[in-house]
Parts: sequence; C-alpha cells; structure tokens
Amino acid sequence: MDITELADRILTGDRRALARAITLVESQRADHRAQAGELLEHLSKARRQALRVGLSGTPGVGKSTFIEAFGMLLTGQDLRVAVLAVDPSSARSGGSILGDKTRMERLSREKNAFIRPSPSQTHLGGVARRTREAVALCEAACFDVVLIETVGVGQSETVVAEMSDLFLLLLAPAGGDELQGVKRGIMEMADLILINKADGDLKPAATRTCADYMGALRLLRKRPQDPADFPKAMMVSAVEHEGLADAWSEMQALTDWRKENGHWDANRATQARYWFDQEVRHALLARLNTPEARSEMDRLSGDVAQGRLGPTAAAEQMLAALKTA
Ligand code: GDP
Repeated sequence: MDITELADRILTGDRRALARAITLVESQRADHRAQAGELLEHLSKARRQALRVGLSGTPGVGKSTFIEAFGMLLTGQDLRVAVLAVDPSSARSGGSILGDKTRMERLSREKNAFIRPSPSQTHLGGVARRTREAVALCEAACFDVVLIETVGVGQSETVVAEMSDLFLLLLAPAGGDELQGVKRGIMEMADLILINKADGDLKPAATRTCADYMGALRLLRKRPQDPADFPKAMMVSAVEHEGLADAWSEMQALTDWRKENGHWDANRATQARYWFDQEVRHALLARLNTPEARSEMDRLSGDVAQGRLGPTAAAEQMLAALKTA
C-alpha cells in the first residue's frame, strides 16, 4: 500500500483507512515499522488535535456502559469519537476485554464513532507506545474526542495519563465509608472522579461516596495549572444517562481554562518529551536483544562470574560492542 495514498484517505476521515493504519502501527515487522514511521511523520504535518480523554476504572464499574452513553452524547452533538484501549491483561490472555465492540454495540454502529480494542503485545510498554500512535492517527482522521480506556491496575493508568489531556476515574458507590482502596497516586492523576451507578437503590451510597471523595480531593495538593475547584468528584448514571452532559461541561471548562492559560500546550510538550525518552530507551534495549548482542552478553557475564573481568569493565566492553554493531 502506498503510504501517501493511505495518509490522504486518513486525512479525509476514512475509518477503514484508519483501521488499516492502526494495524500497520501495531505490527512488529521491521518493514511495517518503517512504513508506520513514514505515515506518522506525514500525518503530523496536518497538526490536527483532538481532545484526548483517559478513562480508568476496575472491571464492572461501568466503563463500557459509560463510554457507550457518553460517546452517544458526543456523536449526538455532531462530534466524532474514537475509543481506544490500553489493556495490560491482553498480553497474557492474548485477547482484550477493553474497547470491545460487542460491549458498545450502539456506539459501534454510529457513523461518527470508531472503536478499537487494545493491541495484543507482549508487555505494557509495547501496548502503550502503539496506542499513543493510534491516538495520533485518530487525530489526523478528524476525530474530535479520543477516549482511551484502561483498567485500574496502577501502571497502565500512568501510561494512559501520559497520552491524555484529561483523565477520568470511574468509581462505583462504596458500601462502607472506606475510599475503596484507591491509591493516592491515581487520585492525584484524575481531573474528574465520576461516581457511576448513582441511580435506584445505589443513589444514597453514591451520594455518600461522592461526598467522601470531594473531601479527599480537597486534601490533595492543589495544582497550580488548574482552577481551584479541580479536581472534582461528581455523580453519574451511565445506564440512565444522568450527569453525563454535566461531566462533559466540566471537561470542556477545564480544557478551555488550560488552553487559555497555556497549560494545554505545555502539557502536550511535556508528554512529547516523555514519549521521545521512552522510544529511545526502548530502542536501546532492543539493541541488546539481537542474537549477537545476547551472545556477547553471555560471554562477558561468564567472564565476570569467573572473576576475569569486573562488572564495570565488562559493561564498558558491552557498550563499545553495541556502538560498533
Ligand atoms: P466495565 O467492566 O467497567 O466495562 O463495566 P460494564 O459497563 O460492563 O458494567 C458492569 C455492570 O454494571 C453491568 O451489569 C452494567 O449494566 C452495570 N452498570 C453500568 N453502569 C451502570 C449504571 O449507571 N447504573 C447501574 N445501576 N448499573 C450500571
């Protein structure tokens, strides 16, 4: 496939071309990686930006129900919505439970929506790097909002936050008065905490949980780049479509504020530096993973074990061998 032609089709918003391009960036074949690089460089010249929204929550909290309802709200406003996923479990299971079209049946039939499950790669770093590239492809393909879904298991939230403009944490109403063991670090990452299932019998518990989190958020360090009333906790019901429009208004208000105050661009610049750093580290590690490099590592580590070379001297020899490789 001609990369210029693929790029042109993506720029017109063609979803099939977008799906093809994501398959290309997810491929580990060296020739595909080269084509993907060329494609991304080409598309970046269009300088299109979507609102990138990270969304995390434990299984069962209502992520797919929320994404479907929220996605429909946005497409109802003539906005184009893409849903991507970073699923740390896809590496182990070979399949992904996130971003699955069957979980968002109505949204997947919308012409202004695009849903893509998590790439199946062997480790989270690989999943994250390819998802970040998929986000860039969606931006080039004229999507207004890119939702990036992940499950609440710590590390995957951090990588999703590094590719998002806004980060949402979805929680369910708690039974007791404990803060559901949500780690402070994850709370600090969130711009909005949404207490889902605030309907029917669960409404009183949701109200209590929301008040608890509002209290907890007030105790967190204030962010100089945000208005004083952020981060916020709010109640929503994905099933009853309650609170979704309010949540969207809050997201827009925060986005506008950050853009007006220069924080939006500053955040994107920081993120670009972070991903550059990640790519360099990954490429360096990959150079240690060739058959030649592995056998040189084995040889040198044998020397170190037998006392013929010190660890530092051996490491220097290894680095010199990599430089000339
Ligand atoms: P996920 O695993 O986080 O994607 O969660 P799902 O969206 O699959 O939802 C898990 C369960 O919670 C399903 O039975 C949903 O019907 C239910 N659920 C999701 N959102 C709501 C809500 O707003 N209110 C109520 N009462 N149930 C909900």
